[in-house]
Amino acid sequence: MKRTNLLNFKTPARCCRYVHNSTLHNSATPLEAPPVTMTSYVSPVAKKLPPLSILSTSSVLRSYLITRATSSPILLGACFAVLKQMLRPNAVILSPERNPLLRWIFKHTFYTQFCAGENKTEVRHTLADVRKTGYSGVILEYALELLQEDGATKKTTAEEIAVFRKGMLDSIDMADPGDFVALKWSGLGEEALGLLNKGLPPTSEMESTILEVCDAAAAKDIALLPGAELEITNQGIDAWTLNLQRKYNKQKALVYTTYQAYLCSTPSRISRDLAVAQNDGFTLGVKLVRGAYLASEPKSNVWPSKAATDEAFDHIVEALLRRTYTQLIQPSSPYKAVFPDVALLIASHNAPSIAKAREIRVQQAANREPRILCTYAQLRGMADEISCGLIADARQERQAGVEVDVPRPYKCATWGTVGECLHFLYRRAAENQDAAGRTVETRRAMGLELWRRVKARVGMS
Ligand SMILES: Cc1cc2nc3c(=O)[nH]c(=O)nc-3n(C[C@H](O)[C@H](O)[C@H](O)COP(=O)(O)OP(=O)(O)OC[C@H]3O[C@@H](n4cnc5c(N)ncnc54)[C@H](O)[C@@H]3O)c2cc1C
Repeated sequence: MKRTNLLNFKTPARCCRYVHNSTLHNSATPLEAPPVTMTSYVSPVAKKLPPLSILSTSSVLRSYLITRATSSPILLGACFAVLKQMLRPNAVILSPERNPLLRWIFKHTFYTQFCAGENKTEVRHTLADVRKTGYSGVILEYALELLQEDGATKKTTAEEIAVFRKGMLDSIDMADPGDFVALKWSGLGEEALGLLNKGLPPTSEMESTILEVCDAAAAKDIALLPGAELEITNQGIDAWTLNLQRKYNKQKALVYTTYQAYLCSTPSRISRDLAVAQNDGFTLGVKLVRGAYLASEPKSNVWPSKAATDEAFDHIVEALLRRTYTQLIQPSSPYKAVFPDVALLIASHNAPSIAKAREIRVQQAANREPRILCTYAQLRGMADEISCGLIADARQERQAGVEVDVPRPYKCATWGTVGECLHFLYRRAAENQDAAGRTVETRRAMGLELWRRVKARVGMS
């Protein structure tokens, strides 16, 4: 039986722009996806109860108010100004550590929207909530990052490694089997960042901590997601991460490399790593994002437009889902065109990209083609209409039984004290500013859901 797709996403018109023009390179399977026409997909679940109905009213209201604030240039500007002041090390009145009233307001608004909690009790409570909502699991990240513009830190390397080790082991402790723990190698400290930027390996102290963390994660069946940073740092990140994939990914993907679709170098880096995985016999873990450091990258490193980044993103997703070499994702030699095992984590808030991936997976399931392990992830507090759509699809598909693709939606939640999470929150505000259009989509979806609940309360629906 050929099933129709069950996508819950409202697809903006621009998704129809998608043109597939890959050519084949001695590959077993052609990469010839039929054009994706997502406007025709309407979820039967969506017809009964909208996907956002699974969220608590407090969460819908908070999302509505925050997206309302961040989609107004004046209010967003004010948020930025306050956050900037809060980040100053000598702040007094605007320091969340020194001003209890500010801390309370901030914690119950922005912090709660985007972060998981300050300690194990709070984080466990949030994670339980996330699971109850219907997510397949969580991605937990300790808010530890060394910003390149920060300059010298006051800690010794040994102290920085100790903070990283504790944060990672605590994250693994709070996560459940099947979850992910995200991290940044630069979180190991200033010396680590220097090594990464020079493409050098970690010191023996760093390496023993990294291996201890990987062993702890492997013992609990938790996968690790080292994030991508600036391209100059990524070369070191790639080398450190690929070495770990070689060691830990023999059975399945335990360690993933993050690739940023906005970088022109990404297709060749993925091609290179696929060849390594094929030669050395391990599953390549791929976490694909568009990239969050656009303003800091030299223009020449990045695709010339958002549309070109979107195109690259969708092209890579399709090549990996179909395990097929293309014009961009090439085998190391035409005679070695076997595609290695691959696991893909699509980390995006872009509805058309998620819908295209779902469409490919639904077709593969209907055709009984083999499918790779594929996970979808959105950040906590963002794009809930997409996450909840995936949850609704998963519920519907599970009931349908055979020849279906049950999507695996994950929510990525950062934890740490209010002070530790400030840099992370500042980047979320910046991202909302960049993606004003998407924020409006979320605000509209949350507004409609609130209105639906009010009408239901007064018996109007
Ligand atoms: C779970 C999760 C984990 C993440 N981990 C990382 C990570 O490790 N490293 C990292 O860098 N980012 C990470 N991100 C952030 C990510 O890279 C994006 O910044 C963010 O998700 C917005 O992109 P989008 O795919 O959601 O879609 P959209 O909102 O449709 O795309 C916005 C993105 O498009 C790209 N873009 C915008 N304008 C242009 C232009 N003119 N030219 C070229 N490209 C353009 C930029 O990458 C921008 O961020 C993560 C995101 C998620 C959801």
